[in-house]
Amino acid sequence: MNKYIKTGNIVKIISCRKEAAMIKRCKWAEEHELLKKYHDQDWGVPIYCDQKLFEYLTLEGAQAGLSWLTVLKKREHYQKAFHNFSIERVAAFTTKELEELLKNQHLIQHQLKLKSVIHNANCVLKIQEEFGTFSYFLWSFVDHTTIVNQWTSHLDVPSYNTLSETLSKSLKSHGFKFIGPTICYSFMQAAGMIHDHTAECFKFGTLK
Ligand SMILES: [Zn+2]
Repeated sequence: MNKYIKTGNIVKIISCRKEAAMIKRCKWAEEHELLKKYHDQDWGVPIYCDQKLFEYLTLEGAQAGLSWLTVLKKREHYQKAFHNFSIERVAAFTTKELEELLKNQHLIQHQLKLKSVIHNANCVLKIQEEFGTFSYFLWSFVDHTTIVNQWTSHLDVPSYNTLSETLSKSLKSHGFKFIGPTICYSFMQAAGMIHDHTAECFKFGTLK
């Protein structure tokens, strides 16, 4: 025992480890280190950048039918393949570039999903023309303010709601694909439009 408390530094390290083990997160984030990092750094932090919002919407669409962890493991490959989600660049993808996407084994190989990214980039450009920014258009669905929920348990958190249905319908009317109500709900959580950290989580009630 003495050798562990011989120096102040070692005592400090032990104490930090104890604290790290005590951090409680939303239940879905506890299963894997990548999920923990994403939960702690990205999920639910309000974003207003069109490029980032386009990335989030694309990743949520890619997830449909798969686990979120599968998508997170491929996130960097998606960022690379889609030029860090430059909307103009992706909207201008050529047939040859699409063919390369369809051969890229680092991406989720689903032809319709991959085609939809290019299609959706063009839809975002039209929204930008009509509303100024994609961000303004999206945030108008929550009156430009995060909806802060107060769920006690992860079991209380819905997978969609009337608001995500409304957003889904609107995106659909603007031509978007892979934007069902469940995808839209996950997207709104991730982009910080809906705050769904549960009471057991250390980020409950914070938007940072
Ligand atoms: Zn949380």
